Formats: sequence, structure tokens, C-alpha cells
Amino acid sequence: MDNMIKCKYSGICGSCKLLNHKYEETLAIKLNNVNNLLKKADINYKVKEIVASPDITAFRNKMIIGFKKLKGKIIAGFYEEGTHRIIDMDYCLMHTQTQNKVFKDFVEIVKRMHIDIYDEDRRTGVLRYLLIREGFKTNEIMVVIVTASDIFPARANLVKSLRELNPNITTIIQNINPRKTSIVLGDKIRVLYGKGYIYDYIGKIKFKLGPKSFFQVNPKQALNIYNEVKEIARLSGNEIVIDAYSGVSTISAFLASDAKEVIAIENNKEACLAAIQNLKDNDIKNVEIVNDDATLFLNNVAKYKEQYDLIVLDPPRTGTTKEFIKSVNRVNAKKVIYVSCGPDTLARDLKDFIELGYKIKSIKCFDMFCFSDHIETVVQMIKS
Ligand code: SAH
Repeated sequence: MDNMIKCKYSGICGSCKLLNHKYEETLAIKLNNVNNLLKKADINYKVKEIVASPDITAFRNKMIIGFKKLKGKIIAGFYEEGTHRIIDMDYCLMHTQTQNKVFKDFVEIVKRMHIDIYDEDRRTGVLRYLLIREGFKTNEIMVVIVTASDIFPARANLVKSLRELNPNITTIIQNINPRKTSIVLGDKIRVLYGKGYIYDYIGKIKFKLGPKSFFQVNPKQALNIYNEVKEIARLSGNEIVIDAYSGVSTISAFLASDAKEVIAIENNKEACLAAIQNLKDNDIKNVEIVNDDATLFLNNVAKYKEQYDLIVLDPPRTGTTKEFIKSVNRVNAKKVIYVSCGPDTLARDLKDFIELGYKIKSIKCFDMFCFSDHIETVVQMIKS
């Protein structure tokens, strides 16, 4: 952990902004950043603990590679940060050797077979992206080949060659994305090999993953966060819990066995459908999924004077709303657990909670995306 990690794309790629520091230093920088934001918001609490990622390289389970043809040469890699330029690269240290090998072999086959690369400006050509997803617990590997049209005569040979070099691949899918957009995946798929999905686990919870499924990128560290939430929740089995911004209901699934009931609120319909499947696969019966805006839902239940024991919220980087926080207070939640991926909006929101009488009991940071400038934070608040 004490050595510097060297990457020849550092500074170009933009993902690992802190790669010029030793890992321990990056943790101190991140912790300091969170503490500065809290101080700026006049919050009198100093965070002392930051949990290191269990793996500091090869921790990512999903890789997305873009393709371009430049002056007759095929280029494959990530996008340069904030641009539409693709970096000509052949590995990423934050991904596993397995993913890097599939990536390298795929690109070599594409070059050898002279596969037609999609041209964004002219809207010609076929191959757009390669997506690789790896189940760290199950060792299942999914490969998704994103093409601009359904017509892809090379697919049989491509699949055959790729499988010969990587017999560990469990499923290969063609995803068709004809739209002029920077969104990677389209709506139509064709399974070229295997079942069309893989499974993976976070702790004991099993997840079925298709090409589009939302899933934690660093599942080992996600488990640490969920365990922290479970531990500080201190549920006795009689509580009704709200899991707001619930995604595929991972936090609900972790808390369900300790609570009477969990109500998961998520505004994305596809995530709700995936959540229903996950809960069924894990035989969890006391989670209710509500496809709604978190603020609207909470305002509404507050109007009817409903009461909840614990509210967990895990909003996107933009944080939550003032109305949501007011409603948390109106439903008399004695405990709030705020899981944040945006420390600036967290500081802003904590101030609103404090104004309503909530007190911070604990704050712990978790490093999910090593060497990036991102940080996850879990805050426990109580109101007596
Ligand atoms: N708790 C989940 C993921 C949280 S990510 C997990 O641990 O896996 C944040 C989620 O909030 C996303 O799934 C996003 O679709 C959802 N979201 C964003 N805005 C929302 C809103 N206004 N109301 C409800 N859900 C929202």
C-alpha cells in the first residue's frame, strides 16, 4: 500500500486524479476534504475514520470501452475526461486482469477481422462499445458488444474467437444502439452465447445482472458500507424503516431481516423492476417497493401523520431536498442514516437536519473509488 502506483494513462484519463499520491495519502486528502466541507457549513463535527477499500487496484467489476477509427487506425479505450476523445489504451489497473485480458483480446480480434467501427459524425459503421461485467463472487463474466445496427455479420466469428481465448466468459450479448447519443446501451438485445445474464453477490444477497442492471462497481467496499448501515441501525425486529433513493433495494435487502417492514422508494422504474426480482431471488418478503419521487412520497405520508422509526437515504450526488428533510421530521423518525456520495451536498443537507433538532451521532467515510476524488460517507443522526 505504501508504494506509488504507476499508470501510463494517468493525467490523460482523468479518473484517478490522485494517482500522484500514495494510497494512505489519498485517504488523508479525502478525509480532510470532507472535514473542510463540514466546517464551511458550520457543522461542529470532525470525522476521524475513513475505511480503506479492501482492494486498491483491480476493484472495479465493470469496464466500458469505446471505439474509434482515426486515420485508418482502430483506437479503443476510455473517454478522456470531459471530452469525446478516446484514449488509445490497452489496460486499466483499476480493473481485474480477467477484464483486461478480455478487452485486449477483443480489440486484437476486431483489428484482425477488420470490423467496421461506428463513426459518430457520419453515422456509418457498426461497432460502438464493449462492456465487460465480472461477478467477483461467482466468477461469471458477461461481455456486451454494442453495435449501431442489428446487422453484424462478423458476430459468429467474433464470438467464437473471443471464447477460444477466454473460455471463462459465461455469456455474450449484442446490444443494438442506433441512437445519436452518448448513452452506451440501446434498448434491443440479442443473446449470442449463454443465458444473457450473470449473477453476483454482495454479502449473502444475490443479484441477477443484465447488460443494463445497476450494480455497485466496488462490491467489496459496498459490503462494508451496508454492514455499517446495518450495525448503526440497531434494529430490534419491530421497526418500520424507509429506504429512500433505494436503487435496486440493496439497503432494504440488508435491513429486512432485522426489521418488521422496509419501504423502498425509488423513482426509476427499471431499478424498481430489478429490485422486485432481487427480493424474490433472495426470498425477502417484508420489503415494499414504491416507484415514486422520494420527496413527494415522504410529504404525502407526513400529511397522513404516519410514523417511521428509521429513515435511510442514499441520494445521488445532488443530495436530497429541504422538503424531504422537513418531512423526515414530520414523520417523527428518531434515527436517520444518510449514505452520501457527494460530501458538498451532504454538508448542506446536514445543516438542515441539525436546524430541525437532529444530532450527529457518528460519521464514517468509505473509499469506494480509489485514487479518484470521490468519497462515500455514512452519517448517523438521532433526535430525542
Ligand atoms: N441505495 C442504492 C442506490 C442509490 S443510488 C444502493 O445502495 O444500491 C441513488 C438512487 O436514487 C438511484 O437509483 C436513482 O435512480 C434514485 N433517485 C434519484 N432521484 C430520486 C428521487 N427524486 N426520488 C427517488 N429516487 C431517486
